[in-house]
Amino acid sequence: MSSRDKQTLLDRITADIKKNNICPDLAESATNLVMGDGNVDAEIVFIGEAPGKNEDEQGLPFVGAAGKFLNEMLAGIKLTRSDVYITNIVKYRPPNNRDPLPEEKKAFWPYLVTQIDIIRPKVIVTLGRHSMEYFLPDQKISAIHGQPKRITFGESKVVILPLYHPAAALYNGGMRATLVEDFSKIPKIIEQLNERK
Ligand code: URA
Repeated sequence: MSSRDKQTLLDRITADIKKNNICPDLAESATNLVMGDGNVDAEIVFIGEAPGKNEDEQGLPFVGAAGKFLNEMLAGIKLTRSDVYITNIVKYRPPNNRDPLPEEKKAFWPYLVTQIDIIRPKVIVTLGRHSMEYFLPDQKISAIHGQPKRITFGESKVVILPLYHPAAALYNGGMRATLVEDFSKIPKIIEQLNERK
C-alpha cells in the first residue's frame, strides 16, 4: 500500500474515533485528539500511554519532556522521528495526566489494532506498562523490560519490545540507565529480523 493510501486510512481512524464518540468525557476535556506522528512505512512503532499537556496542545505525541528524552534515545541509535512512527494507546489526554482507566484503554484498543494493521511494523516498542499489558498480558514490566518477544498479531508476526516509559525513567537514574540500555538493543533486533527474510 502506498504511504498516501496508508495516511488516508489513518485519517479515517481519527474520523471514526470522533464519529463513534469514544471516551466522550476525555474528548470533552481534551483540546486535540492525538493520533500519531512519524513515518507510516516505519519498521518500528512506539506506543506510549496517553497524551500529556504539551501533546494535547500540539496534537502530537511525545513532544514534552518525555518526548525530548525519546528523541535523544532515537538519536543514540541513529534514528530520527521521521524513521519511526509514534502513538499512544489512549488518544485523548486524561485530566491532570492521571493514568488512563482500564475502560479507556479498552475503548481505544481496536483503533490501535487497526492503526498497526495499516502501518505493519516489524517491531512494536511498548513504552510503559499501559501499552505493554495489551500485547503481553499478565507480565510485569520490571521482569521483562528489554526482552523482545515474537507474537502473532492479527495475521502476521511482530516483535514486541517492552520498555520502561521515558517519563518514569526521566528523573530516576537507575531506570534511566536501564531504559537507555534496553533502547540500544533496537538496531540489532531490526537487523536480525531483516536477515530472516
Ligand atoms: N507520555 C505518553 O505516554 N505519551 C505521550 O504522548 C507523551 C507522554
